[in-house]
Amino acid sequence: KLLGSQSIPTPSNPHVMKTTILPDSKRKKILITGGAGFVGSHLTDKLMMEGHEVIVLDNFFTGQKKNIEHWMHHPHFSLIVHDVTEPIMLEVDEIFHLACPASPPHYQYNPVKTIKTSTMGTINMLGLAKRVKAKILLTSTSEIYGDPKVHPQPESYWGNVNTIGPRSCYDEGKRVAETMMYSYKNQNGIDVRVARIFNTFGPRMHPNDGRVVSNFIIQALQDKPLTIYGDGSQTRSFQYVSDLVNGLHALMDGSYDLPVNLGNPDEYTVKDFAEYIKDITGSDSEISFLPATKDDPTQRKPDISTAKRELNWEPKVTVKEGLEKTIAYFSRVLDESGEIIPT
Ligand code: NAD
Ligand code: UDP
Repeated sequence: KLLGSQSIPTPSNPHVMKTTILPDSKRKKILITGGAGFVGSHLTDKLMMEGHEVIVLDNFFTGQKKNIEHWMHHPHFSLIVHDVTEPIMLEVDEIFHLACPASPPHYQYNPVKTIKTSTMGTINMLGLAKRVKAKILLTSTSEIYGDPKVHPQPESYWGNVNTIGPRSCYDEGKRVAETMMYSYKNQNGIDVRVARIFNTFGPRMHPNDGRVVSNFIIQALQDKPLTIYGDGSQTRSFQYVSDLVNGLHALMDGSYDLPVNLGNPDEYTVKDFAEYIKDITGSDSEISFLPATKDDPTQRKPDISTAKRELNWEPKVTVKEGLEKTIAYFSRVLDESGEIIPT
């Protein structure tokens, strides 16, 4: 049963979204920290369309109001502008704990704040989960494997992380957040889920967040040089956001409570990826090589056998299909805002 259309389609949300009506007994109250960000806003859409009550908690450090504005007047939606490093009292059934800047320029902008967000923020959300007996899912990251010596990376690999490098505020923050999740599970019986997310892209990535997919697309669409950090031989494997959201949903709803990699094993060198974006956009951009960033992982590719086995999940959207949607999105953003100079 459909409740009609939600508000007005916006440039970032060109499709009118419809919600299912659930009986009260089936409707969950779900908190999404970081719900105004790239991944969180897509997760908000999915859970709202399923008919649940969604509370987005966000401090708008990297999130944008326009990512969630289409739900603002819906009776099942609430927005709380709040910093997750401060405690909060709420009554919820489930917590998707995403709040944390995710792109290297953003998480390195204020490393101490990034550490506080992962540590104090996760403690606060675990305290909330304990008080109200909510299930809690942490969005961890492939970065916990650091510069991996095992390739592809299974969940059993313990990683190779520099504790004092420029990426450590994020990597070590997420590692200790994982530790907290299992300490609370073992000590207090909290029902936990941990997703280790690999590079994800799609509409609503912040145009200035400096990640490789948004940078290359924005540069290519403006016929500006595509900036490769280092010689471009480092690899990444790229997942489209709808696949990730389906994986997070399956993980939360299933019973498997150990860490699970969520990513698309389709692996590219950064140099080949730059050529691919040039081809697919038909751009005349040159490629420019800039100095490598410190501690940049040399290779990354998920082993997703756990997700396949335990969640019956695997990515469905090819990198090409995902890129076409993302390119269309950034073309609209550029039409609206004129020139963008990526970070
Ligand atoms: P994003 O930067 O778009 O979203 C993060 C959101 O958290 C933003 O809305 C931001 O305003 C909010 N936030 C940050 N600090 C906060 C704080 N102290 N209090 C409240 N809100 C705060 O990033 P994203 O790509 O959507 O990432 C979401 C989650 O997924 C993060 O936890 C990230 O570590 C994880 N992840 C993402 C990727 C990826 O490729 N996108 C890969 C691995 C892990
Ligand atoms: N990268 C690049 N040019 C850019 C942005 C990123 O060459 O304009 C490289 C970066 O050095 C890394 C890879 O692309 O090797 C992926 O970077 P991103 O910031 O997207 O995510 P990461 O996997 O490093 O967190």
